[in-house]
Amino acid sequence: MSLYIEQIEQLVLLQRLDTEAQELEKSLRDMPEQLAGLKGKFVGLERQMGQVRERINLLEEQKSRIEHEIEEDSAKVKRSKNKLMMVENTKEYHAMMREMDTLEKMNRIREEERVSLLEELAEQNEQAAGLAERIAELRSEIDAQEDGLKADMAAKEKRLAELRKQKAKACECIPDPIMDRFEFIRGRLDNPIVVSVTDAICNGCHIRIPPQIFIEIQKGEQILSCPNCQRIIYWDNHFRASKDGDQDGRPRAAVEEAD
Ligand SMILES: [Zn+2]
Repeated sequence: MSLYIEQIEQLVLLQRLDTEAQELEKSLRDMPEQLAGLKGKFVGLERQMGQVRERINLLEEQKSRIEHEIEEDSAKVKRSKNKLMMVENTKEYHAMMREMDTLEKMNRIREEERVSLLEELAEQNEQAAGLAERIAELRSEIDAQEDGLKADMAAKEKRLAELRKQKAKACECIPDPIMDRFEFIRGRLDNPIVVSVTDAICNGCHIRIPPQIFIEIQKGEQILSCPNCQRIIYWDNHFRASKDGDQDGRPRAAVEEAD
């Protein structure tokens, strides 16, 4: 295998390792954020629950006050009715009738108020039950995530360390100027940085490369860049051709990566 092919292979490998490492780094950043998002949601639900409970307490208070008043006035009406039997003059009788009337009227209003309080209480209790359910679900989701997070992050950190080692090894046989070019493009363009050229088309930007450069790349002597997108390019035929003669599987990996 020529030095050129070997270098391209290492670049493709580097590309693959780098892509995996970047994805891992991103997911390591996102995981705690996801958990923080769930925790924020939990706090929001608990606050909502607090408000609903406060409202329920207030309604319960109103309800017992009104029931107490209804009871008291009913007792008054009952007492008046008993007294009514003993009244002898008409004037007193009418006065008592009016008083009873007023008390009964007020109690009817209270009764209506009580009914609407009960309705609202039922609604609020239903809301509280729904919230309690959501809070419990979220709590177990958070617990599960927290449990998994540490183990998951540790595994990812471990894999990342491996990738960094493999990347360093892949870099060893790549000349410094090429590595500099790789790092330079990496900071400016989306992955992949190392791309194949199929029928004179760059697989990074999908634009045709000039004939002169296509001729150069086919010679396989020098690592070239796409004049349009600056990505490091190689001719995919080099890998197809060497696949049969090379049993270590690397050229095939290189071809797959190029797609
Ligand atoms: Zn290009």
